[in-house]
Amino acid sequence: MAVEHIKHWKVGDVEIARIVEVNGWEDNISMLLENETADYVRSIGWLRPHFATPEGKMIISFQAFVLRSQGKNVMIDTCIGADRQREFDIFCNMQTTFLEDLTAAGFPPESINLVLCTHLHFDHVGWNTKLVNGRWVPTFPQARYLFGKREYEHWVHLRDTHSYHALEHMYDSIDPVIEAGLVDLITPDHKLTDEVSLIPTPGHTPGHVSVLIRSRGEEAVITGDMMHHPIQLVCPERHGRFDMDKEQGSRTRREFVERFADSKTLIIGSHFPEPTSGWIVRDGEAWKLKTE
Ligand SMILES: [Zn+2]
Repeated sequence: MAVEHIKHWKVGDVEIARIVEVNGWEDNISMLLENETADYVRSIGWLRPHFATPEGKMIISFQAFVLRSQGKNVMIDTCIGADRQREFDIFCNMQTTFLEDLTAAGFPPESINLVLCTHLHFDHVGWNTKLVNGRWVPTFPQARYLFGKREYEHWVHLRDTHSYHALEHMYDSIDPVIEAGLVDLITPDHKLTDEVSLIPTPGHTPGHVSVLIRSRGEEAVITGDMMHHPIQLVCPERHGRFDMDKEQGSRTRREFVERFADSKTLIIGSHFPEPTSGWIVRDGEAWKLKTE
């Protein structure tokens, strides 16, 4: 078990834990912001040391969150998963301590009551299932799995029309939980408990949601992929390369930043590396992430 994979937060009465599956991946900023350069990243001093390297590469992580609210244990996204065939080598045939880490964080797989996928990209649904004797079976058989209705229907449409290049995760991480009868299709404003509700944040995908946690006057949001990296606070409306609807993604990010800037709300970034959380604050004409 890798100690650095796990981090805990407390928001009012809600306990939240992070489980990292791929830690501190360094990549070119042009992966996220088209034609952008390392010089641009280097020019933004507050990104270092947590979110960018001195050479100007962005740092991202792949991780899941789990929380305890009003007696329910809830997974928020399920990362990449083991034994997969994926588009990029780093995600293929991964063997990690993810499930052990989950247990070490106080959330053994059999204790999970709800699994919420913010959207249905491969790096948010992987551990929905695991490979047992050559078959994909639900990792959390006692849980209800919550998928956005619009999101699920969109991915089924992409498969039916052969209009997306990488659909392996539908077969190994989505279909098996549907076939097991474990899925509830929900609206993007669904409430998981009195303390945990969804905010529709479309753009990255059509049914994308973020997760709002409110308890005893404290507040946090788990972003999902509405934003991939804190650099997007510098210009939230700038198009993100991973967004399926770039105009909508841009509008959603801008609205999100204006809603939560200079507030007490802790922003927990689904791909933000350690320390993973911070507060959005004004920074001249733009915004930045304050981490302490
Ligand atoms: Zn993602």
